[in-house]
Amino acid sequence: MTKKITQFKKYCNSLTKYSRYKTREVFVGDIPLGGDNPIRIQSMTTTNTMDTLATVEQTIRMVNSGCEYVRITAPSKSEAENLANIKKELRARGFNVPLIADIHFTPNAAEIAARIVEKVRVNPGNYIDKKKFESIDYSDESYNIELERIRERFSPLVKICKEYGTAMRIGTNHGSLSDRIMSRYGDTPLGMVESALEFVRICEELNYHSIVLSMKASNPQVMIQAYRLLIIKMQEEGMNYPLHLGVTEAGGGEDGRIKSALGIGSLLEDGIGDTIRVSLTEDPEYEAPVAISLANRYKNRSPHKKIEEVHEIPFDSLNYSRRHTFEILGIGGINVPRVFADYSARKIIAHKDLADAGYSYDAPSDKWNMSDMAADLIYLGKQNTPFDIPMGMKVVYDYSHWLKLDVQEKSFPLLNVGDYKSSNQKSNILNFVEIDIDSLAGELMNRLKIDNKAVIVLVTSNEHGMAEQRRIFIKLIENDVKNPVIIKRSYKGLNLDELRLHSSTDIGALLIDGFGDGVWIDVENILEPVESKNVYVKSFIKVKETKETVINRTLFGILQAARVRISKTEYIACPSCGRTLFDLQETTEMIRKRTEHLKGVKIAIMGCIVNGPGEMADADYGYVGSGIDKITLYRGKDIVRRNISAEFAVDSLIEIIKEDNNWIETM
Ligand code: SF4
Repeated sequence: MTKKITQFKKYCNSLTKYSRYKTREVFVGDIPLGGDNPIRIQSMTTTNTMDTLATVEQTIRMVNSGCEYVRITAPSKSEAENLANIKKELRARGFNVPLIADIHFTPNAAEIAARIVEKVRVNPGNYIDKKKFESIDYSDESYNIELERIRERFSPLVKICKEYGTAMRIGTNHGSLSDRIMSRYGDTPLGMVESALEFVRICEELNYHSIVLSMKASNPQVMIQAYRLLIIKMQEEGMNYPLHLGVTEAGGGEDGRIKSALGIGSLLEDGIGDTIRVSLTEDPEYEAPVAISLANRYKNRSPHKKIEEVHEIPFDSLNYSRRHTFEILGIGGINVPRVFADYSARKIIAHKDLADAGYSYDAPSDKWNMSDMAADLIYLGKQNTPFDIPMGMKVVYDYSHWLKLDVQEKSFPLLNVGDYKSSNQKSNILNFVEIDIDSLAGELMNRLKIDNKAVIVLVTSNEHGMAEQRRIFIKLIENDVKNPVIIKRSYKGLNLDELRLHSSTDIGALLIDGFGDGVWIDVENILEPVESKNVYVKSFIKVKETKETVINRTLFGILQAARVRISKTEYIACPSCGRTLFDLQETTEMIRKRTEHLKGVKIAIMGCIVNGPGEMADADYGYVGSGIDKITLYRGKDIVRRNISAEFAVDSLIEIIKEDNNWIETM
């Protein structure tokens, strides 16, 4: 990240003052979104759309869990027609929830559904185009002929929507861009934006404006950049359509929640987003509570403590590049962001206590074993340990305690600004200096700049903390301060599930913009999960799990989701829908159990061959349902085993991974 200052291209109202980015109000049935309406919550059924009763009952569970809109897949004309029965049954049972038909490939189905339900979702990557993975060299003329073809095929749907008062989501997926878009724009956020805008322009020509847009990707970095760019491009063309936010194929459990919070939350922090769907490989009724928890943070965000406004930014918010820092003892520079384990409030009495930070002790050999998620630094505050901390781990004490140590060389002090400025006795290797926005005045900045032993620990107490910390990073870059920075967030009064979502948003949003050489979470006063009235709130905290364990796993999860430090296998699993051809949750779990030690390998598990391959994003391997009891396996985008029996599919997947020398035997 260079110091080049550029005019901030406005993708939100302000980078420092929270407010919702105002879009046009669009009615979906009786429930409007956009404008001044609250952030709406939605999800999608996973039942077979032809099974009316199962779909109705699942929809009711979703409404009871907090869904304000429910999406149902309509892969062909029959399913589209059956939406009428589903809707009728729901209304008969007193549920007026607006329904959305999810369409891929089939304009005929869309045109039927648009006469029945309140909204249709089309994917501009496959509504008219069939993907052949061809690269075509278009001239402007041949490209315009293609656009004309799209106009002809898409206009009837628009006219039906207009006539029936049906809303439409034009929902781009990073993984399923058409060959036409790929050939001209590549697999980029710009390609995603253009893919949607080509369709929007046709709607506008027909004077149809009940449009909602989405830019989903399984990589939160791509997804965030695409939404930002979409807003900029909409402004250039005088558009202000509401935005539906989501991270696709996020997976399930903790990882799915972290990835979704990072992607969706980063945008919500800047006031972007009118409706959200959290996609998890779980029953859909478990999605709304996560989405509600993400959206609720912004109900009372404003007014918050004032942060100095920024009009020009010294970084590119549309392309990732990491803030340039110098390295001090493996922190900063080109090193992956480091992870702190905070044990200051916990007595360490035995070796086993460090297991929560990823270290296991083998007494007979007197050796420590590190997991792939072993913290790099441990903060002990004012306490001593009765044994030596593992060699690879750096120990940090409060400055006052560090001063009293007999051997100071093996550990490092954490100083406040006062001590940093006044004291002559510091580590001659590495000092951590805790700084907030108020302490970062000119004199301190000049001092830090020339101190190649100082790592900044950035803290905030502002309710709009991500924005405040981002403001500090901007200040550091403007003043050419290249000291590494640890992003530290302190929380209190949360339960561990809330902590995971909040920290994924707050820290993840900064990492996505290239900020941070380390991460640290400090928690006080952890609450027990409240017995929620919503029976679909699912916790992933295991009984007797310590907060240190949860925080360590969360921090590594955030780094992985932001793709700045890979410490485990990545699963890109579709959330499943009426097209799914096998039990996605069970299969994902089975694959996870056998492959979770393959650090850095990306495995996609997709329910159907119609959309799965296109939406596997950048997975290394794909496990895709291609018929009843039939699985097709992919290496990247290439089929390597076609239609094999599900019974042998996981073994075959492992064989392929072995052929590529990506397999590691477990002990
Ligand atoms: S990939 Fe999964 S969610 Fe997408 S259409 Fe196929 S089964 Fe449904």
